[in-house]
Amino acid sequence: MSSRTISPAQKAAILAEALPYVRGFHGKTFVIKYGGNAMTEPALRAAFGRDIALLRLVGMNPIVVHGGGPQINELLDTMGVDAVFHRGMRVTDEKTMKVIEMVLGELNQEIVGLINQHGGKAVGLNGQDGHFIHVRKMLLPPAEGETEPMDLGFVGEIVLIDADLINILSVRGYIPVIMPIGVGAEGEPYNLNSDLVAGRLAETLGAEKLLLLTNTPGVLDRDGHLLDCITAANIERLCQDGTIHGGMLPKLESALHAVRHGVHSAHVVDGRVPNALLLEVLTSEGVGTTILPDDAPQFLVDSRHYLETVVNEMSKP
Ligand code: ADP
Ligand code: MG
Repeated sequence: MSSRTISPAQKAAILAEALPYVRGFHGKTFVIKYGGNAMTEPALRAAFGRDIALLRLVGMNPIVVHGGGPQINELLDTMGVDAVFHRGMRVTDEKTMKVIEMVLGELNQEIVGLINQHGGKAVGLNGQDGHFIHVRKMLLPPAEGETEPMDLGFVGEIVLIDADLINILSVRGYIPVIMPIGVGAEGEPYNLNSDLVAGRLAETLGAEKLLLLTNTPGVLDRDGHLLDCITAANIERLCQDGTIHGGMLPKLESALHAVRHGVHSAHVVDGRVPNALLLEVLTSEGVGTTILPDDAPQFLVDSRHYLETVVNEMSKP
């Protein structure tokens, strides 16, 4: 249904239906990972900027972490630099790191601009700003047949996120837009997986939700069917049996860890759907897969109207 085909009365009804969500989530923090694969279309990027501004303007506290894998590969390709991967991780030499910083910096400024155009007050950050993402060099343990750990170059693993800077900005009404770069003990920059940054940040901030926007309808089961709602333990099983692989692995690793460490729910959301974020946060029509803690009551896991149930509970006086 496009906005041209609905009547003013229907529009008003839609707005009225959003009230319980606006009320239930007032002042709540949402960490939103904006995936490189969900931001390939300019129109989708513009709509994303507007959705983020809107969430902030109605009283929620959105925090954006973005990726940029496909855009990094594209620039490496035009520069004639080979993208090298080892067990799914990008081997990052000095030249590659420069390209990563360049591409992420540009994407970051674009997302900041899009949010600001719609009345938000976005601020672009990387982990070096205020030294807020502490990392160490990641060493992959030796695989079978190897003796030495694999050195991936400038790939970091997160040691600690200092939430102070983010809290100061969001308390004053700013929307942090974070690129996945951390800083080592010697002040050197490291490339990070943005799903892991988003998950760790959601935990550190005690976020209400972790939302992972990507380029699939959600988490698919072995037969390719969309899973509506699933507990952390069941997701773990799907990771172990190979149903979940590739780029979905770090997302669900983050989601699992987050819901087991205080985040109320994690969502894998189809970022190719226009206004996916608004649908997920402000309506009962989720667009993707909800991941709940292991102790979530079974009726919530079974309920297609998980969001409605939670929001009704939250809005009770
Ligand atoms: P992003 O840029 O959003 O991080 P990725 O390509 O890294 O996107 O991760 C999403 C990809 O994960 C999907 O496009 C899909 O190919 C892959 N994937 C692997 N297993 C699954 C699964 N069980 N359900 C859905 N997607 C999956
Ligand atoms: Mg990815």
